[in-house]
Amino acid sequence: MINFQALSETYGTPLYIYNFDHITERYNALKEAFRAKKSLICYAVKANSNLSVVKHLGDLGAGCDCVSIGEVQRAFLAGVPSYKIIFSGVGKKDEELKEAIEKDILMINLESEAELARVEIQAKALGKVARISIRVNPNIDPKTHPYISTGLSSNKFGVDIEDAKRMYIKAKNSEFLDPVGIHFHIGSQLTELEPIRESSELVADLVRNLKVLDINLKFFDIGGGLGIKYKNEELIKPYDYAQAIFSTLTTLDVTIMCEPGRFLVGESGYFLTKVLYEKTNGDKRFVIVDGAMNDLIRPALYNAYHQIEVLEKEDNISLADVVGPVCESGDFFAKDIEIPATEHNDLIIIKAAGAYCYTMSSNYNTRGKVAEVALEDGKDRLIRKRETFDDMIALEKEFIQ
Ligand SMILES: *Cc1c(COP(=O)(O)O)cnc(C)c1O
Repeated sequence: MINFQALSETYGTPLYIYNFDHITERYNALKEAFRAKKSLICYAVKANSNLSVVKHLGDLGAGCDCVSIGEVQRAFLAGVPSYKIIFSGVGKKDEELKEAIEKDILMINLESEAELARVEIQAKALGKVARISIRVNPNIDPKTHPYISTGLSSNKFGVDIEDAKRMYIKAKNSEFLDPVGIHFHIGSQLTELEPIRESSELVADLVRNLKVLDINLKFFDIGGGLGIKYKNEELIKPYDYAQAIFSTLTTLDVTIMCEPGRFLVGESGYFLTKVLYEKTNGDKRFVIVDGAMNDLIRPALYNAYHQIEVLEKEDNISLADVVGPVCESGDFFAKDIEIPATEHNDLIIIKAAGAYCYTMSSNYNTRGKVAEVALEDGKDRLIRKRETFDDMIALEKEFIQ
């Protein structure tokens, strides 16, 4: 049991709380599922990039999947070794590629032929060989929300199988590129196994074709995307996930890599916010809380559902919207949910808030980013201070004329 009342008194609200023991359980469950083969779990840092979260996963043995050089730097700061760090994303800048090659990370995930050319130029200039993998777009519908679907030709990610083959041949013929891996990632919050298995099969076939050309890939990266429980979703079990992938890899001796973000940290997190007021406009009831869309934007951005609980209140339930103080009608955590009557200072807990919540927060409406707290072995500790007004204006103050 988490003592939300005590945590709110110690750290104030709004507040993010992450249960590190839960993160450990999730990591171990996934690692165990892949036990029959060599595997490397690279945590998708963008899900929750707090240095203590990254370090916690690094200490368990995880690598990092990064989508900017800033995330690569976070991984290094958290003590994750270079040989477990990979760099993905459709739009990497020259400076980012250069730094990744200099830092000798495990591999750079290419997402276009144009990018391959830029990486070669950067590697040549440094007199180094860049290890690369190519992100294949298998053109398979992951059956998730369109905003978090990434494996269709209509999405900006990856390259077609045929283009990938041509790129591997180019890379093999280059003095400055070493093709070591292959990658796909078809979407996020996946709850169906079949699209994943189908993608894996397509990509594994390409790996076999490349072998014939004497291009021997060591790393088979199946991306991330495992769904978590926000409401009452039927979830993919780690064991079934691993077995589905194994079934496509017969005759191949590869290290399986995966890049889960949400699966590892999502359900570990809680967003704690305090009721300010209740009001009704006409027939419509609103519960106004001190957290807002700038702190947790998923409901506003993708109409995402997060379970909401009022601490120690259960009477006089009726429908209401739970909204924040930001000046936007889109500033809501839930619409038309059944919720007990609340009073000033009641605590509200928003669940499954460990992934894509803090990392998407902003200073909109000059609201400071909230504090983050870790729970581990029955103890709590601060892992990021609450931003002050001075923090928010630090980079602009000197320019007032
Ligand atoms: C976002 C992302 C992930 C992680 O996705 P989750 O749904 O959080 O598991 C993995 N790989 C790539 C390339 C990504 O962009």
